[in-house]
Amino acid sequence: MKPTSRIYLVGAGPGRRDLLTLRAAEVLALAEVVLYDRLVSSEVLAMVRPGALLVDAGKEHGRQEEMQQRILLELEEYARHFRHVVRLKGGDPMVFGRGAEEWRWLRGRGWDVELVPGVTSALSVPSLAGIPPTFRGLARSFAVVAGHACGGDGVDWAALARVDTLIILMGVARRAEIAASLIRAGRDPQEPAAFIENGTLPEERILVTDLETLAAGGVDVASPAVLVVGHVVRLREALVEAAMLATSCS
Ligand code: SAH
Repeated sequence: MKPTSRIYLVGAGPGRRDLLTLRAAEVLALAEVVLYDRLVSSEVLAMVRPGALLVDAGKEHGRQEEMQQRILLELEEYARHFRHVVRLKGGDPMVFGRGAEEWRWLRGRGWDVELVPGVTSALSVPSLAGIPPTFRGLARSFAVVAGHACGGDGVDWAALARVDTLIILMGVARRAEIAASLIRAGRDPQEPAAFIENGTLPEERILVTDLETLAAGGVDVASPAVLVVGHVVRLREALVEAAMLATSCS
């Protein structure tokens, strides 16, 4: 190991390059090698120091656990030869990104690891779409949930149904099941819900619907997308109307 090598665990934010933290931009400008995940946008990758080695860690095939182990060994191997090795992950590395596992493993092997938090898609994507997680008088609590394995994996939808705003990541494939579970747990079938696909990027798409339609399989959406369920979804209309008024008056 070169004594000065450092492995940086960096959050790339939701997609738009100006939503990177200043520290993330600094680290990307120093990087000699960057192992990046599938969700990292091309805008952010363009911030990496010219000439750096860019390794697509999201294209690896095989079982999740094997893939994860391979990435860690690869990071270690690069750190033996380069001083600035970056592991770049979408959003914040510690939010459903296995960042904490990677941090623990690398630290356990004696590496100098710096964590650079990122702007998580869970909050920034809905907010920038006009849907804030909380709003006085409307929503005083929110929860961020992983929705990809809700069929018997221990997600307690009945408990979650008591939280005002639900923000569900990785919920595209199981959207109908999630909505049905929430209705069964007592949420109003007419309650508004919204999917924001490719949030903050030029190809962003926002679909506003309700739980009933979602449960009936009536919403066409592709990953990556954030699902928001709650009355705060209604605020989007007011915000969009206000923005239209502002433009028409100017
Ligand atoms: N660590 C990431 C989340 C990883 S889980 C973070 O903090 O943002 C991956 C999920 O994040 C996707 O399935 C999707 O639900 C969500 N996601 C990430 N980026 C997104 C984007 N730009 N637009 C919509 N959803 C996004």
